[in-house]
Amino acid sequence: MTASENMTTVDVAVFGAGAGGMTAALVCALQGLDVLLCEKSPQVGGTTATSAGTIWIPGTQQARRAGMADTIADARRYLDAIIRTADDRREIYLNTGGDVVEYLDRHSEVKFSVYAKHPDYLANRPGSTIAGRALAPLPFDGRLLGADFDLLRPPIGEFMALGGMMIGRDDIEPLTRPFGSLASFRKAASLVWRQMKDRLKHRRGTRLLMGNALAARLFYSLRRKGVPVWLNASLQELMLDGGRVSGAVVQVDGEPRRIVARRGVVLATGGFGGSVERLNDHVRPKLAHAVAFAGAEGDGMRIARAVGAAIEDDHETPVFWTPVSETGWLNGGRGAYPHLALDRAKPGLIAVNAAGRRFGDEAVSYHDFVLGMHRSHETVPTIPAWLVCDRAFIGKYGLGRIPPGRRRWHWAVRSGYLAEADTIDGLAGKIGVEAAGLRASIEQNNRFAKTGEDEAFGKGSTEFDRNNGDPRHQPNPCLGPIAAPPYYAMAVYPSTLGSSVGLKADADGRVLDAGAKPIAGLYACGNDMASIMRGTYPGPGITLGPALVFGYRAAMAIAADRN
Ligand SMILES: Cc1cc2nc3c(=O)[nH]c(=O)nc-3n(C[C@H](O)[C@H](O)[C@H](O)COP(=O)(O)OP(=O)(O)OC[C@H]3O[C@@H](n4cnc5c(N)ncnc54)[C@H](O)[C@@H]3O)c2cc1C
Repeated sequence: MTASENMTTVDVAVFGAGAGGMTAALVCALQGLDVLLCEKSPQVGGTTATSAGTIWIPGTQQARRAGMADTIADARRYLDAIIRTADDRREIYLNTGGDVVEYLDRHSEVKFSVYAKHPDYLANRPGSTIAGRALAPLPFDGRLLGADFDLLRPPIGEFMALGGMMIGRDDIEPLTRPFGSLASFRKAASLVWRQMKDRLKHRRGTRLLMGNALAARLFYSLRRKGVPVWLNASLQELMLDGGRVSGAVVQVDGEPRRIVARRGVVLATGGFGGSVERLNDHVRPKLAHAVAFAGAEGDGMRIARAVGAAIEDDHETPVFWTPVSETGWLNGGRGAYPHLALDRAKPGLIAVNAAGRRFGDEAVSYHDFVLGMHRSHETVPTIPAWLVCDRAFIGKYGLGRIPPGRRRWHWAVRSGYLAEADTIDGLAGKIGVEAAGLRASIEQNNRFAKTGEDEAFGKGSTEFDRNNGDPRHQPNPCLGPIAAPPYYAMAVYPSTLGSSVGLKADADGRVLDAGAKPIAGLYACGNDMASIMRGTYPGPGITLGPALVFGYRAAMAIAADRN
């Protein structure tokens, strides 16, 4: 990197320090390029740092070593059954994904393990699998980052307890039932002890999991390669030289600065999933919440359009959906709790519309649940939809922001987060749904719970549903009675985890113009690049997987491109 008064020259400038941008910058550095990473906010990590961190990548060494029988041919069959539009990038994704995971494993601290079980989301489509495609970042010890630990964006409150201790799926059982077994007690005690030690020195726990571990691993690897990371450095516009993108103007700590990028500029500003205003340019009915990081507000797309970039928007749906409940105090005050996997699939909960009627299988993926809300809303008001259960359910499984294992949740009722009534009719009156419909739905649910078969919508009929149910509950781990008062209801609304539509790009992340020709020197990855899933949600990790793979491919293309 060379610098004069307000100009810096590098080989590659990357904008956005989430999974896409940090991967692109890391691979550039590993390939010997002189790279600079600029991040708009004061911390690295973006939405990636607050995510579950799962990547969906078929054909990895990790899956093979674990003896999983999955094949690329099956994964291809599965994606082809779901995504209607042809897209060359899909095949390249399938064929390079495993190599990318291996490359990162070998050359950096970005390391993953395969989930023993994490079913595809559309488990009844041909080629689906219950394990082998979903990988988790290995936990990371935040203490290794030293002073840089404070520069890593923390997870959202939903993934933490006890003043900043991260909780993974495997921690829930020991922490909620520490006296259930000796192993549970040991694990709970060691987690709490580590957290107490951490809090003597750090603002939050340093045992990092999920998306926070992924962001930490990328950041740590960048530091080890000596890659300069500018924080508070926001991309403002791209510079053109004879039709080629030659650099960018950046606002650094409020001052404009020019960066000349000899080999390329990579846009990885996270799409527009963090901005309610930008989301509402694309979705109807309009949204009130965004769960993604507020910094992901469409800068890359807007700035690239100014130099002729095309937007790919012929997707099944423009964003990746999740239902959220309104919690004004959470997520940095942005007020949305994503109901991803912990409550909807459990036995003893139904979701109803304003007629008090169920409108689908409550245990489907968060994306498909919201699509079901939209379908129902065409005829009966279903925004919000209501998650309905009884006291025993909340005590055992929790609901939204109320964790499992609690005996009291007056705060939730007092604040209006949860409606409570001693009768079903009383509950219906409080939430404004038809009482007769709600009564009939609960009676029907209780009948299904006895037989174990949801004749209306098949809750608990797929591997995916059952994986999020309660394995100890029989005959169907997702069906249980709503039996005894008091009864409860929680409103859920559509929101998004991120954007699907984005910059049109080729399989090496080269941004394309309206004539499908690459704009020389300009690349995109992460959610700035239009998703290869095209608004469908086949499985866990379908945005972070592509972010890594196309971040890698863009860097490799820049390294190979001698022009
Ligand atoms: C609760 C939750 C759980 C999720 N779990 C998963 C999961 O398990 N698997 C999965 O695949 N997906 C998951 N997602 C979605 C996933 O987190 C995002 O799709 C992904 O992190 C996007 O990565 P990215 O690199 O494109 O953007 P980000 O990680 O959002 O990073 C973009 C960065 O760019 C910066 N930026 C923005 N504008 C500028 C600018 N002008 N100049 C410089 N920098 C800029 C932002 O500040 C931000 O730091 C989840 C999302 C949420 C909210």
